[in-house]
Amino acid sequence: LCVAAQDFDFFYFVQQWPASYCDTRRSCCYPTTGKPDEDFSIHGLWPNYENGKWPQNCDKESSLDESEFSDLISTMEKNWPSLACPSSDGLKFWSHEWLKHGTCSALNQHAYFQTALDFKTKSNLLQNLNNAGIKPRNGEHYSVESIKNAIEEGVGHTPFIECNVDSQGNHQLYQVYLCVDSSASKFIDCPIFPHGRKCGSKIEFPPFSSNDDHAEF
Ligand code: 5GP
Ligand code: 5GP
Ligand code: 5GP
Repeated sequence: LCVAAQDFDFFYFVQQWPASYCDTRRSCCYPTTGKPDEDFSIHGLWPNYENGKWPQNCDKESSLDESEFSDLISTMEKNWPSLACPSSDGLKFWSHEWLKHGTCSALNQHAYFQTALDFKTKSNLLQNLNNAGIKPRNGEHYSVESIKNAIEEGVGHTPFIECNVDSQGNHQLYQVYLCVDSSASKFIDCPIFPHGRKCGSKIEFPPFSSNDDHAEF
């Protein structure tokens, strides 16, 4: 018998900034469990190859089984909310991430979700940015370099910063990619950064706490 080999080289651990998901032309919908905190939230933990390609949907037979991670659900609602429309309780997003990426991870469902939650805590992104004076504020522009440096200072490894564009056309911090070794035990230097999702040199970091955004319910 043969234990499934880890047929990939490392993980991208991807976190999103909710305000930047919501203030685009496409808008967003708050989860049925309520508006998320003003904090980074998990997008996913994605197996990847060193050549930039990645495996996905590795087990077509798999399905999400809530009973395997029922102890994590309230923590996931807080740290891994879904902001897509229509509003949902997260299960659809977690199922998507599990089926597309988790089934290639060599982890079971509980370990996959637990690992992602642990890496969110370890990365402590909002606090690391705060420590460098980088706070969510309207109209303020930060250099991508200063954002990378602040995260590197706290995590010990340089992140990849992905931007998107708000409904007024401003480039803003959207997602932070960190790399994790293939056994999902520690952050590592990224073997390769994602292609074609660069930022301008100065970007916004919009607040999520005000009630003047336009999310639908
Ligand atoms: P997008 O086109 O929005 O950047 O990415 C769409 C989806 O493709 C992501 O949600 C993710 O599932 C997958 N994806 C995009 N880029 C990468 C990557 O570099 N590595 C992996 N493993 N998946 C990716
Ligand atoms: P990916 O394929 O890029 O891993 O995941 C993106 C998919 O998850 C899309 O189909 C998107 O609609 C869905 N999704 C649900 N909630 C969210 C969310 O809060 N953020 C992102 N980026 N995608 C979400
Ligand atoms: P997907 O194919 O994964 O549904 O979505 C493609 C891209 O659009 C992803 O980058 C995803 O994050 C983004 N996206 C999906 N649904 C929404 C949404 O409801 N609002 C916003 N702002 N972006 C979305």
